[in-house]
Amino acid sequence: MSKGEEKRRISCIVCPLSCVGEVSVAGGLVTGVEGFSCPRGQAYAREEVTAPKRMLTSTVKVTGGRLPLLPVVSRQPLPKDKIRACARCLSTVTVAAPVTEGDVVVADILGLGVDVVASRDLESFQPLAASRA
Ligand code: SF4
Repeated sequence: MSKGEEKRRISCIVCPLSCVGEVSVAGGLVTGVEGFSCPRGQAYAREEVTAPKRMLTSTVKVTGGRLPLLPVVSRQPLPKDKIRACARCLSTVTVAAPVTEGDVVVADILGLGVDVVASRDLESFQPLAASRA
C-alpha cells in the first residue's frame, strides 16, 4: 500500500452472492479494486466509494383516498447525500386519489434527474350509501 492510500471493505449488494472486496483509495481516487467476482461488483464498489447512491422509499399524504398515505419510491438510486433533502421534499407533497402504481408523484426531484413514483395503486374513498329507513 502506498503512502496516503487507504483500503475500504465493501459488501456488494448487486446480486445475492454478496461478495466482499476491498477498494483502495488515494487522494479521493480509486487506485485498486480487489475481491469482487464480476465487473458489475467492481463498478458498484467504485461508485460506493466515490459517489454512493441509494434508492429512496417513503410515503406522501393523500386526499380523498382509501388510505391517508401513499408509498412512493425513486425510479433510480439517488445520491446518498441528497436522500434527506429528498425525504424533506416528499414530506411537503400531497396527492389526490385515485393513484395508479407508477404514476409520477414528483418529477425530477430536486433537479437530480430522478422521478419519484407511486409504488402501489390507491383507490378513492367510497363512502357507504346511506341506509334507508
Ligand atoms: S461482485 Fe458480482 S457476483 Fe459478487 S455479489 Fe457483486 S454482482 Fe454478485
